[in-house]
Amino acid sequence: MDFNFSDEQNMLIDTLRTMGERENFKELAKKVDETGEFPWELLPKYADLGLLGMSLSEENGGGGQPVINTVLAIEELAKFSPMIAAPIFESNVGPVRVVDMFGTEEQKKAIIPKVAKGEYSVSVCMTEPEAGSDLTSLTTKAMSDGDHYILNGTKTFITGGGHASHYMVYCRVDDTPGYKGIGGLLVEKDTPGFSFGKQEVFMGLRGMPSCDLIFEDVKVPKENLIVKAGEFKNLMSTFDVERCGNAAMCLGTAGGALDAAKAYAQERSAFGRPICEFQAVQFMIVDMAMKLDAARLLVYRAATSAGRGFPSIYESAMAKCYANEMAVDVTGSAMQVFGGYGYSAEFPVERMARDARAWGVAGGTVQMLRITMASLLFGRRFDQRKGK
Ligand SMILES: Cc1cc2nc3c(=O)[nH]c(=O)nc-3n(C[C@H](O)[C@H](O)[C@H](O)COP(=O)(O)OP(=O)(O)OC[C@H]3O[C@@H](n4cnc5c(N)ncnc54)[C@H](O)[C@@H]3O)c2cc1C
Repeated sequence: MDFNFSDEQNMLIDTLRTMGERENFKELAKKVDETGEFPWELLPKYADLGLLGMSLSEENGGGGQPVINTVLAIEELAKFSPMIAAPIFESNVGPVRVVDMFGTEEQKKAIIPKVAKGEYSVSVCMTEPEAGSDLTSLTTKAMSDGDHYILNGTKTFITGGGHASHYMVYCRVDDTPGYKGIGGLLVEKDTPGFSFGKQEVFMGLRGMPSCDLIFEDVKVPKENLIVKAGEFKNLMSTFDVERCGNAAMCLGTAGGALDAAKAYAQERSAFGRPICEFQAVQFMIVDMAMKLDAARLLVYRAATSAGRGFPSIYESAMAKCYANEMAVDVTGSAMQVFGGYGYSAEFPVERMARDARAWGVAGGTVQMLRITMASLLFGRRFDQRKGK
C-alpha cells in the first residue's frame, strides 16, 4: 500500500497547518475548552476552503475527494483540538454520508450543498438511555400512519443535539425484532413534538453540543425513511467511515500532545540540563512517537482502502480501537513529561488527555470493536445475549 502523499495532499496538510498558526488555533482551542462555546466562526472559513463535504459525492454537491483526504484534514486540525476539527468530521464522515449514499435525489439536492456551505449539519441518533452498545435493543418507534410516521422515543448523548439542522434517527420501523426491524429516519429540527434535553457536561470535548433528543408524536413524512427495515447493514457500513474519522481525531490529539511534549522536554531543565537529555524522558517520547506512527499506519490503511466509498469493517474497527487506546496512552505520557505543569490547565496536555478519553466510547466502545474483530477473525458471529 502506497502511503506517499500526493502534492495535493501535502498542500492540504500545509494549508491547514499554516492557517492554524496564522489564526492562533492553539489559543482558540484553550478558549473553547474554558468557555464551552463551539467555534462556529470557523464554518464559513472551512466552507471557503472546500473542506466541508470534501469527501461527499461531487454530483450531489460534495467535493468528491477520497476518505483519506478528510482523515488528513481532521488529523491536522485535531492537533489543536477536536473541536477545531469537528466541522470537517461532521460534514464528511458523519451521518450526512447516509444521505449521500442512500437518500432520494431530492434529499441529496436539498441537504448536501447546504452542508458544504456550513448551513446544515446532520447528527447521528442511535444511543438511548437503555441501549448503547446493545443498539439492537433500541425502542424508539416510528408507527406508520398514512403517508407519515409517528415517532416516539428518547435518544441520549447526541452530538450536535439542538444545533444540527437534521437528525438521522435509528428507530423501529416495523415489528420485526432485533436489527431487522431498525431503519434510519431523517427528522428535521423544529418539527412539532421534537425537543431537546439539557446540554451534557463531559470531562473533555468541551464546547461540543451534546444532549438528549425527545420525540413525542413527531409526524415525519414517509419519504424521510432513508434506510428501510432490513437495510441496517447500510446504516452500519457508513459507520465504518465514521470510525476512520474518529480514529483521525485520536491521531491529531496524540500528535498535538507529542509536539508539545517534545518542545517542553527541550525547554525544561532539571539537574542543570534540559530534561530531553535524560534517557527516561527520551524513551517516553520515542514510545509516544512509535505508538502514534503505528496507529497512523492502521488508520491510513483503512481510509486509503475506502477510496471514495467504504473501508473494510475489520480495518476500520482495528484502526479505531488501536488509535483510541493510543491517544489515551500518548496524552498520558505527555502529561508525565510536563511533570506538575502537565496537570495544570495552563498547559494544553491536560485538556488533550481529557479529550482523548472520549473516543474509545463515542462511536462504539473498544470492547465492542474487539467483539466485531473477533467475529471476523473466527468467521462466526458471537451473540452477546444471555443464553445464546
Ligand atoms: C463524547 C461522546 C459522543 C457521543 N456521540 C454520540 C452521538 O452523536 N450519537 C449517538 O447515538 N451516540 C453517541 N454517543 C454514545 C455512545 O455511542 C455510547 O455511549 C456507546 O455506544 C456506549 O454505550 P453506553 O454508554 O450505553 O454503554 P453500555 O453499552 O452500557 O456499556 C457500558 C460498558 O460495558 C461494556 N460492554 C457492553 N456490552 C458488552 C459486551 N457484550 N462485551 C464486552 N463489554 C461490553 C462497554 O464496552 C462499556 O465499557 C456518544 C458518547 C460520547 C462519550
